[in-house]
Amino acid sequence: MASKGPLHSKENVKTAKAAIAPPEKPQPSREEKKKKWTLEDFEIGRPLGKGKFGNVYLAREKTTKYIVAMKVLSKTQLKSGHFEHQLRREIEIQSHLRHPNILRLFGYFYDTTRVYLILEYAPQGELYKALRAERKFDEKKSATFVAQLADALKYCHSKKVIHRDIKPENLLLGNNGELKIADFGWSVHSPSSRRETLCGTLDYLPPEMIEGRTHDEKVDLWSVGVLCYELLTGSPPFETKSHSDTYKKICRIDVHFPAHVSPGAKDLIMRLLRHDPKERLSLDRVLTHPWIREHADVASLVVHKRK
Ligand code: ATP
Ligand code: MG
Repeated sequence: MASKGPLHSKENVKTAKAAIAPPEKPQPSREEKKKKWTLEDFEIGRPLGKGKFGNVYLAREKTTKYIVAMKVLSKTQLKSGHFEHQLRREIEIQSHLRHPNILRLFGYFYDTTRVYLILEYAPQGELYKALRAERKFDEKKSATFVAQLADALKYCHSKKVIHRDIKPENLLLGNNGELKIADFGWSVHSPSSRRETLCGTLDYLPPEMIEGRTHDEKVDLWSVGVLCYELLTGSPPFETKSHSDTYKKICRIDVHFPAHVSPGAKDLIMRLLRHDPKERLSLDRVLTHPWIREHADVASLVVHKRK
């Protein structure tokens, strides 16, 4: 799994010569040939942020000078929180996804005390910080992020992957300010009836998840609606001071819109915030919704697709 990805893609390409050469002596297997990453391969730069299990640093691969983000996780902390299984799933899922709005996981390695994830570097940082700095986004910016997110989730769902933890803290921004889904720590293959302990905020969770029912990829549709609301207004729709009040608001779908939110945006949000998952607007319909069509910078999607 510790594939060297695009950094050393040459090594992964079987040359025509190799393919036709007679096997005079036993060839080393693919696994044996593949050089494993170690910390020695990287120059470590400034810290980019702090996570639950360690820090993230800017790093550069020595031979290619390729810039990456290196997430360093402490094994002791992973073990004490029983998060090894979750990390394996995160690596397994994220390393196989290829989409311009999904953060790439190029590979991983470990030593006696730590696990290292080699991630695509997102130069513009967290969407969460950008939103707090601007307080709220205009319709163009909000609709563009929603369209990019919908497109990336469509791709995940086509691979039977549900993210389950869409929120501004888990969305990073690329070189051109484009959205990048990061943090697949909660993602699973659908459908799921897993009843993990829900930690942290309930703000982005749909009724079926907070009630611990079986759920499928439609949980992500709900969180697209919550995100759209937060981008336009600056706070999530069900935010309260207590867990139990948020719980009640979510189950009642108790949403109030500030006066500046346009009818088109309200329509999209309310078509996503449906108690019955089957009634939620599909991602295709999100992408063709009149409000998205009118405001999203759809060119950003098309250009990325051609890359
Ligand atoms: P938490 O669950 O508490 O958010 P975490 O363990 O998931 O923590 P991350 O969110 O992945 O950790 O990373 C911590 C911070 O490091 C992020 O909030 C972000 O600011 C920064 N960061 C992480 N990955 C990248 C990246 N690829 N490019 C740029 N910055 C990053
Ligand atoms: Mg995170």
